[in-house]
Order: sequence, then structure tokens, then C-alpha cells
Amino acid sequence: MSRPKEKKRVIVGCDLDDVLVAFMPAFIDMARKAGFGPDDDRKPIDWDWSNMGWTREQRDTLWQQLADTKDFWVHAVKPMPQVDSDLVNLLYESTVMYFPTARARAVGGDVAIQSARWLRWNFGILYPTVIVSNEKGPLAAVLKYDYFLDDRPKNCFEVKRARPECQVFLCESSHNQDYETRRECEMLDIPRIAGFNEFAELILEETNV
Ligand SMILES: [Mg+2]
Repeated sequence: MSRPKEKKRVIVGCDLDDVLVAFMPAFIDMARKAGFGPDDDRKPIDWDWSNMGWTREQRDTLWQQLADTKDFWVHAVKPMPQVDSDLVNLLYESTVMYFPTARARAVGGDVAIQSARWLRWNFGILYPTVIVSNEKGPLAAVLKYDYFLDDRPKNCFEVKRARPECQVFLCESSHNQDYETRRECEMLDIPRIAGFNEFAELILEETNV
């Protein structure tokens, strides 16, 4: 007797920071506590925090402070306020979902373990597959993503090039509004999307869940 056929589940890659996790506010908060400012509510306009008014030394100090904070990725970050926890769970249960991340090391548990613990505590996902890697393109090819969401343009471009059949989306953020990014997104057919909820709804609709 052959095994009953299971409906093929689509494969989803979903970035963590500034897609599900409010990393930028946590980092800016650290800077304010260190006395580096800013004293207004400006948001970063690029990946290097160039408009935040920090010197290079101050920025290095912040990254060092993050690295020295025990279990930073468990305790120091909160979910993105607009992310719907039910949608996270529904998508997780309806697809094969991976959480690739290029997070920096922080003392305490391994980054993947810290991140998995955070996902468990904040969204109730018991066994999330977190993969820590800077090479999101090769990862996409190996894991065979059907859908991918990230707020960093470079990651979206790499994933699209490594796996053209994947539907790649750029998550809207203050730091990815520049002209070059818009142009390359158009060239590579990468739509911009408001956030995780819209991404999840689109997949659930397309896969008739
Ligand atoms: Mg990110």
C-alpha cells in the first residue's frame, strides 16, 4: 500500500529583524540610553544609520554593547507592533517556514537558539527553524523557497538571483526608500509590500488555505 499523498506545502523564507522583530527601535533606544541621541523620532534612511548623528566610534560602541548584552536576541527586542500573531501562526502551520537571519552574535545562547526562544515566547511557535547566515541567496536555492520576505534590499536581490522562481518581496522600511533600490526592485520584479501581514495574507490566498 502506498502512503497517502500529502498536499505539497509551499516553502517560505521570512527574515526576522524589522519584518517580525522591531530591531531598529531597540538599537536606537540603546543609543539614546548611551547619550548618543537622536533626540527626535527620526528613522534610519539607509543600512549604515548615516542620518542618526552617531560617529563611527559611537556606532561601533553600540554594536559592541549589543554583543556584550546577555541573550540580547531573547530579551532586548519586541515584535513589530503591527504584526498579527495569529497570522504568524497560521502561516507557520500552513507552510514550511524558515527564519533566515544574519544577526550578529550576542553573549549567552547561540544566536539561532536565542532567536528560536524569542519566537516561542512572542508568537508561541514551539520549534521554529532559525538559520543564521549571511548568505541568503545560496540558502534560498538550497531550501527552495517559493516565497521570501526581507527588509534589506541586498538580501532580496540575492535571493531573486539565486532562485528566480521564488516570489520575493521587499518589506517597506525607512531605510529602503532610495532610488537605486526602487530601480533594482523594478528590474528584478520584486514588489514592495507593507509588512508581514500582507505577505502572509497573500500566500494564504494563493495557496487556498
Ligand atoms: Mg531584516
